[in-house]
Amino acid sequence: MTMRHIQRSIAVLLVIMGPVLSVVAQKLYVPNFDSSWIRDQEPFRIAGNLYYVGSYDLASYLIATPKGHILVNTGLPGSDTLIRKHIEALGFKFADIKILLATHAHFDHVGAMAAIKRATHAKLMIQERDVSVMADGGNSDFDMGGHGPMFEPVKVDRPLHDKDIVELGGTRIEVLHHPGHTKGACSLLLTVKDSARSYRVLIVNMPSILSETKFPSMPTYPEVGKDYAYTLSEMPKMQFDIWLSSHASQFDLQKKHQPGSGYHPEAFFDRASYDASIEKLQETYRRRSGNAVN
Ligand SMILES: [Zn+2]
Repeated sequence: MTMRHIQRSIAVLLVIMGPVLSVVAQKLYVPNFDSSWIRDQEPFRIAGNLYYVGSYDLASYLIATPKGHILVNTGLPGSDTLIRKHIEALGFKFADIKILLATHAHFDHVGAMAAIKRATHAKLMIQERDVSVMADGGNSDFDMGGHGPMFEPVKVDRPLHDKDIVELGGTRIEVLHHPGHTKGACSLLLTVKDSARSYRVLIVNMPSILSETKFPSMPTYPEVGKDYAYTLSEMPKMQFDIWLSSHASQFDLQKKHQPGSGYHPEAFFDRASYDASIEKLQETYRRRSGNAVN
């Protein structure tokens, strides 16, 4: 990471954040990122009451219920403006967000959590092992931390555990702890319905391995090897109709959905690419750790 990269990243952020939040942005350590992370993406209905409201590559999901909404992931710092615009374009009220969830506590997925919590008074629910990282803006992250806050620190209202249920307005979400990428990384399982049928949806946190992660153990994360092995052995067992992920590129959103292509949940039925992605990650883990997944 060069200073030039950091300065360029902050400059890009300032453009999307506008002058009001620039004071916050200047205090953040923001690593270099791809322009697709802030490129706009038309929001759309995926299946039932589940909608895509994120950027071109940083996925955010709205689950709209009669009792208010659940928002999963908030993109980079400053992305609250984009997400709000998308939610309103779909005909929903931003202020109706009641619950905030995340697949893991990295700056590119929880960057706007503090701003959205402030604006909506929603309850922030995060896996217990990512709670302290949320509280210090990512500075204590085992791999990326140590440079100061990477996003605005935010207090978690409800720490989540493996198999916990988050429920609102008739939608039940099962939280699955899939540690490794962060200590508290999670996938989410839910069932949504339309007039034709119901759909089992997995929003998976793909356990990609960062370049600084060392196996089997690191002083900042002694059980990192064990956690990756657990997650990579659990993932092939998952049962679902539709799978989605933290990054749109991980599940080929741009190939499955073009702007204006209408409502078509079946486009996201794709077990083969899920299995292939998990196998690739298992291979990377084998190469990097010298160990097979169980
Ligand atoms: Zn990440």
